[in-house]
Amino acid sequence: MRIAICPGSFDPVTLGHLDIIERAGELFDKVIVLVMSNSAKKSAFTVEERIALLEKCIDKPNIKVDTYSGLLVDYAKEKGAVAIVKGLRAVSDFDYEFQQALINKSLFPKIETVFLTAKGQNMFLSSSMVKEVCSLNGDISSYVPKAIVNDIYLRCKGEK
Ligand code: ADP
Repeated sequence: MRIAICPGSFDPVTLGHLDIIERAGELFDKVIVLVMSNSAKKSAFTVEERIALLEKCIDKPNIKVDTYSGLLVDYAKEKGAVAIVKGLRAVSDFDYEFQQALINKSLFPKIETVFLTAKGQNMFLSSSMVKEVCSLNGDISSYVPKAIVNDIYLRCKGEK
């Protein structure tokens, strides 16, 4: 079985993330969406809340959600994963992602990083943009899955 990991902070998940996750699900037998807890990054949702939001939006039997606070390659080894799948929005994403891919390859030579290009309409979409628009009472319904629009409003509306 070929297992891939889609890591990220998903704070919260957007339609851009979901597109990459579902496309990874078509390419691999199993996909693990891995919510990475990064204590240095201030988040709007706790790890448990981010997992619950992801689970509300994913209904494919070969896509699961998990969390990990250690090194990504250690998790990949433990699960027998063959690939890390990342989404690329623009050239600006590339430098950082390329560096990450190289360090992961050097730590665990068997792992491949696969980059999928973002869909045109998702190029500008990020969790921080969603939170920013929401906090200023803007309409986020075309940026995140319908099932979680309300959860995000409840947390972020008027947060400024
Ligand atoms: P963000 O950059 O929004 O904080 P994450 O750290 O949660 O996102 O990102 C997880 C993965 O999803 C990364 O590979 C990132 O490049 C990708 N990604 C984020 N937003 C999009 C998008 N709009 N379209 C495609 N891929 C995306």
